[in-house]
Amino acid sequence: MADPKAKVVIVGAGHAGGSAAAFLRQYGHEGPIVLIGDEPIPPYQRPPLSKAWLKGEADAGSLALKDADWYAENDCDLRLGVTVTSINRGSKTAFLSAGGAVSYDYLIIATGARARKLPIPGADLAGVLELRTAADAEQLKAALGPGKRLAIIGGGYIGLEAAASARALGAWALIIEREPRILARVACEELSTFFQQYHEAKGVNFELSAGVKAIEGEGGQVRRIRLSDDRAVECDAVLVGVGALPNEELARDAGLECAGGVVVDLQARTSDPSVFAIGDVTHRPLPLYDRQFRLESVPNALEQAKQVASAITGHAPPSPEAPWFWSDQYDLKLQIAGLPFDADSRVVRGDMAAAKFAIFHLKGDQVQAVEAVNAPPEFMMGKSLILSRKPVSREKLANSSISMKEVAA
Ligand code: FAD
Ligand code: NAP
Repeated sequence: MADPKAKVVIVGAGHAGGSAAAFLRQYGHEGPIVLIGDEPIPPYQRPPLSKAWLKGEADAGSLALKDADWYAENDCDLRLGVTVTSINRGSKTAFLSAGGAVSYDYLIIATGARARKLPIPGADLAGVLELRTAADAEQLKAALGPGKRLAIIGGGYIGLEAAASARALGAWALIIEREPRILARVACEELSTFFQQYHEAKGVNFELSAGVKAIEGEGGQVRRIRLSDDRAVECDAVLVGVGALPNEELARDAGLECAGGVVVDLQARTSDPSVFAIGDVTHRPLPLYDRQFRLESVPNALEQAKQVASAITGHAPPSPEAPWFWSDQYDLKLQIAGLPFDADSRVVRGDMAAAKFAIFHLKGDQVQAVEAVNAPPEFMMGKSLILSRKPVSREKLANSSISMKEVAA
């Protein structure tokens, strides 16, 4: 199917879309590339938005995926501040908010995900914030500083990373989580407890198993949170970090198969051979775990950007990867490889009290996932064990005086 002159239109100029344009050129694609994004700035990295950006250590320039000149130099027609409003698959056309349309030979849907909204009174008050874009991060940054009070709804990655940044800037921070533990979607119980205690030691407050029934304000500005048990918590700003929803409407309206994300195969193909989808918006195969899943991570965006660029340019597909994630909070580097599907036991290696350990999730004697805190060798070796399916000895794994190399041998 490779056609080096084909016209490729990419919808969504985020991490996946921007990377796909770069890989297409790197793999020798010669045809026109049109990269359309509704944000006002060229593709950038989001991870620092909850960390370095809030502390004034990053800006739009330093986060850019490519130098501003790259697009013109590589004949990539970057259209910013433009939304693709619909797709006609019959005529192979994408329609634009600015009016007009763009035709394509291949379309790549890379529309990402958006922050989930809270359907409660007061959610539209000034000072109620979300964190998905550079513009959001700028607003949150202005709400942090000594003496400021930040209430965070949601104890996931956004909530914890923002709380760590808030404390670093001298702000008071409270995390309100409806589950009995933080990071419930992405981490095991021991890790949740470890992170909660670490944050508490840094001065973060927690309300767990807690709901929010309203956000209350004065003069249109947020002033307090009303918890489900009617207690009020005074605050100057509220960050809502209650998960992300895939921007799949464009694909769904065009009749493409969606299931909580656009359904794709390992070459990022949708149910239409001319249309691909990549990044947070996809529901993709995880061959290691024999299921389809939606991943929200930079490594996934990059892996699928390589898949689509390979498919369009006729390169061999990239080798399969184990999914992986990271999160930086204070001096903690959390690295997670794999997903603990069907795991039946856990092995802790290292010293939790010294904040240097890894939790391995095993299915029988095979590693399904590893959660590593300040433990890069455990993460790296765990990741390769997940891919190789090599059996390991639980006793050796638990004994940190035996090197990971030896464990994996
Ligand atoms: P996005 O980067 O969201 O890009 C999608 C783009 O498409 C957006 O610009 C969107 O506005 C645009 N768009 C949507 N619809 C249309 C349309 N119809 N027309 C035109 N444009 C459209 N991951 C990690 O692995 N590690 C981290 O530490 C980490 N930290 C994060 C911190 C924050 C604050 C956030 C928000 C995310 C973080 N992530 C992290 C997740 C990671 O950034 C995402 O997984 C990644 O950005 C996904 O790339 P994407 O291109 O699929 O989506
Ligand atoms: P998340 O990781 O899904 O966490 C959201 C948390 O909010 C969950 O624990 C959820 O609990 C809780 N929640 C949901 N509704 C709630 C409510 N009404 N009241 C209180 N708590 C509620 O999502 P996120 O932290 O918002 O992150 C959004 C996106 O950014 C994701 O794609 C994430 O991967 C990405 N991100 C990634 C990183 C990283 O990889 N380091 C960093 C920042 C952001 P339930 O489980 O009960 O729903």
